[in-house]
Amino acid sequence: MTTSIVILGAGFGGLELSTQLSEALADQVDITLIDKNEGFVFGFSKFELMFGRQTLEEVRSNYADIVKPAVEFRREVATEIDPVARRVVTNKGTYDADILVVALGAEYDFSVPPGFKDGGYEFYSVEGAIELRDVLPTVTSGSVVIGILGEPFKCPPAPCEAAMLLDEHFVERGVRSEIEITVVSPWGRPIPPSPDGSRAIIDRFAERGITFMAEQLITDIDAANKVAILRDGTKIPYDLFLGIPIHRVPTVVEKSGLAVDGWIPVEKTNLATRFPDVYAIGDVTSAPVPKAGVFAESAGRAVAEHLIAQLRDSGSPTPYDGAGSCYIEFGDHKVGRVDADFLTGPTVMAPFTEPSVEGAEEKAEFGSTRIRRWFGK
Ligand SMILES: Cc1cc2nc3c(=O)[nH]c(=O)nc-3n(C[C@H](O)[C@H](O)[C@H](O)COP(=O)(O)OP(=O)(O)OC[C@H]3O[C@@H](n4cnc5c(N)ncnc54)[C@H](O)[C@@H]3O)c2cc1C
Repeated sequence: MTTSIVILGAGFGGLELSTQLSEALADQVDITLIDKNEGFVFGFSKFELMFGRQTLEEVRSNYADIVKPAVEFRREVATEIDPVARRVVTNKGTYDADILVVALGAEYDFSVPPGFKDGGYEFYSVEGAIELRDVLPTVTSGSVVIGILGEPFKCPPAPCEAAMLLDEHFVERGVRSEIEITVVSPWGRPIPPSPDGSRAIIDRFAERGITFMAEQLITDIDAANKVAILRDGTKIPYDLFLGIPIHRVPTVVEKSGLAVDGWIPVEKTNLATRFPDVYAIGDVTSAPVPKAGVFAESAGRAVAEHLIAQLRDSGSPTPYDGAGSCYIEFGDHKVGRVDADFLTGPTVMAPFTEPSVEGAEEKAEFGSTRIRRWFGK
């Protein structure tokens, strides 16, 4: 008798989990991996799309290429999840699972604040990044504002990375002196858990003439007049507004009753939900870690270890450590790194490695090891 495991979502978390389970338990489990998309795209590849350095075909790894023992990929849209019965309905069928793992990530709500849809752009979705690829070359002067529209949001350094990469882009085009770049953030510093990483970003901003507006939230966009409005009523005129959209769980999760206060609560040690044999990993949860691929991946690993120990009856697995290394683009082909550990110690540890060309090579290697492991390429 094999155990049927259904994994919803083949992003960072779902891909890592299915890979680990296939390697360790192929003779004991049947894994169904479900995703609505054709393939996987790293979050950081949105920068490649936005600046026209790579095409979608170049950055996407197709799910059809997944050939792993005991894993069957299905390109379907999950429309209903019953966490009590561990039953999933998709646009193509119904699945009953012994073990269900929800790894559906976070979606964006472009309807808030009012005016965002008409008055701004974004680089958080593949479509948004591709649209910007055609818009950026038309920008020759004026004010570019990158505004965080709500918390939590994926990859906390990404808005500042975008500012540093935009700076580089405008310099290369010879128009930088005509353009102001501003990041509006609800936080007091660029990446709150990492004082050293934040300092490096602020130093780079000072060097490059980029403004960081701390502890400010944009609550409205006046699209007609091209003005972003802060909570206290202050108006910031812009020529190009790039918003970090409001994040939410996918509708299917919202309808399932799994989420509480917006996100799926999980046990800190093993990512179990309050429903027996139902787990949740990555951005879809309220686990006390940032919404980033490296934490979704380490959560996938932790659930895999937990299930391997359970199905082999082989003792206690290591608890989830909430650890991961985040790479930060500084422009000029240099990348820094924050090694964050959110759960193992009494306080969050997040030492920073200064940006370097070697850091950029390490980040590229990070990406290619994942693609090799998950897609066998
Ligand atoms: C600009 C940018 C830069 C980033 N840079 C980094 C970085 O450098 N490092 C890093 O670690 N993270 C980075 N991230 C964040 C990272 O991409 C996400 O945090 C990560 O992908 C989350 O993994 P996940 O497995 O939880 O969800 P996802 O990877 O988002 O996967 C969820 C999957 O569920 C699928 N899905 C959703 N709803 C349904 C449905 N109803 N039916 C079927 N399938 C569905 C989706 O298609 C998707 O494939 C960045 C993000 C952005 C936007």
